[in-house]
Formats: sequence, structure tokens, C-alpha cells
Amino acid sequence: MILILLGPPGAGKGTQAERLVSRHGFRQISTGDMLRAEVASGSAIGREAKAIMDRGELVPDNVIVRMLDRRLAAEDGHDLILDGFPRTVPQAEALDRLLAERELELSGVIVMEVDEEALTERIVGRFSCASCGASYHDKFRPTRIDGVCDRCGGHEFVRRADDTRETVLARLAAYHAQTAPLLPYYRKMGKLYLVEGMAGIEAVTTAIEGILSGFARGGVHAKVMRAD
Ligand code: ADP
Ligand code: ADP
Ligand code: ZN
Repeated sequence: MILILLGPPGAGKGTQAERLVSRHGFRQISTGDMLRAEVASGSAIGREAKAIMDRGELVPDNVIVRMLDRRLAAEDGHDLILDGFPRTVPQAEALDRLLAERELELSGVIVMEVDEEALTERIVGRFSCASCGASYHDKFRPTRIDGVCDRCGGHEFVRRADDTRETVLARLAAYHAQTAPLLPYYRKMGKLYLVEGMAGIEAVTTAIEGILSGFARGGVHAKVMRAD
């Protein structure tokens, strides 16, 4: 199964991907995480991407598509969640080609809809475990014990350099200009499913699982409304 989680920055894509990985055995492919790893390692891609990410703009399609192509080869045979990719129509077209070459089919695109004010609040409160990457929020998803990671017991946490109020505006603008056109793109393909992302974390997972069980039965038409 190949699933795309689509939505503006802070919509909850990473949070839901993390839950689907642990409950259903998906592999998560987050182009944002891959880019942050490139930045941390000081690679050529990382050096090129750093300034762009700090401005809240999108990294060039060719860089992203090459990175994704290599990663798809490494994840051969696994159920995948694409989180944060594609983000432009050319990336979506490239993905169609990459999947066709491998005789893979996209199962569906789940769009998480969240109000703009809520996005900013989610992003500025976001932090994650430095050891295992588990994701948290100051208010909405605190650690159970203050200063201790629920998942690995780690004590060190990090915040992203681009999770500031100023950068959020640029990231939202990039989303509206470059990523939102993917909704009609996938709607035309009959692959688009909308989820109410304003609900709590658990309720959003339940909604996504409803869509997934529809895929497993070979069609979601009976149970879940498709967005077309
Ligand atoms: P994205 O990957 O779409 O940018 P994240 O999954 O990192 O978004 O979520 C952004 C922040 O909002 C995180 O701190 C996360 O804990 C929190 N969050 C995620 N989903 C919800 C939700 N349904 N309700 C409240 N807070 C949420
Ligand atoms: P969020 O879900 O909070 O928007 P991500 O971790 O997905 O954040 O992405 C962080 C940054 O990495 C983006 O603002 C952008 O600069 C870059 N990036 C990630 N994925 C892509 C992509 N598919 N295409 C272009 N740039 C990307
Ligand atoms: Zn941890």
C-alpha cells in the first residue's frame, strides 16, 4: 500500500505517520526528515537546502525527486507513507513515473485539513526527541513525564530552526501557491480523501484507519466519502 499524507505545515502529517508506522507496519518517507539529515551531515544537498528551508521555501524539485528515487529503491516491497512529498505538481508527475517504473500503484492521498490559526499554534509548540525523533507539542502532546521521552526515555529534545512564527507565513504561502494544486490533481485521478485535521490526534488516526480499511476491502466507496 502506498499512501500520501498531504496537508499544510503543522497539519499533523508526521504525527499520524508515526502512529501508522507503529500500528500498521508502514515505512515512513518524510522528505523533510531526509533533508534535515542531509543538513546535519553537511552533505552537498544539505548545504544547498539549508538556506532554502530556513526561508520556508521549497527545495528544487530535481533535488527532491532524485532523493526520493533512491529511497524508493531502498524501501522496495514495503507499505509506504509519503509524508511531505509530493509538494508540487512536477513532483507528483515524477512520482507517477517512479511508481509506474516499479509497477506500483498509489492507494490514495489523504488530505488533512486544519485552520490556519491552529497551524501556527501547532508549529510554534512543536518539539521532538533528539534520540528517537518522537514528536511532541508543548500543549497538545506533552511528554507523560516532564523532560522524559515517552518512547525511548531520552532527556534531550530539539526544536526545528524553521518552526518560528515568521517562517510559518512563508511556508503557508508556499503551500497555497505550490502544494494546494495537488488537490485537483489527485481529485481528477479519483485518489483524494479528506480528513478533518482539527480533531484530536486519536480521532484523526481513527478517521485515517477508516479510509485504510476501505482500501484493504478493495474500495472505500461504501464506507467513506471520497472527496469528489
Ligand atoms: P506536520 O508533519 O504536518 O508538519 P506534525 O505532525 O509535526 O505536523 O504536527 C505539528 C504539531 O502539532 C506537533 O507538535 C504535534 O504534536 C501537534 N499535533 C499533531 N496533530 C495534532 C492534533 N490533531 N491536535 C493537536 N495537536 C496536534
Ligand atoms: P512541514 O510538514 O512542517 O511543512 P517538512 O518537514 O515536511 O515540514 O519540510 C520542512 C522543509 O523542508 C520545507 O519547508 C521545505 O523547505 C523542505 N521540503 C520538505 N519536503 C519537500 C518537498 N517535497 N519539496 C520541496 N521542499 C521540501
Ligand atoms: Zn525518544
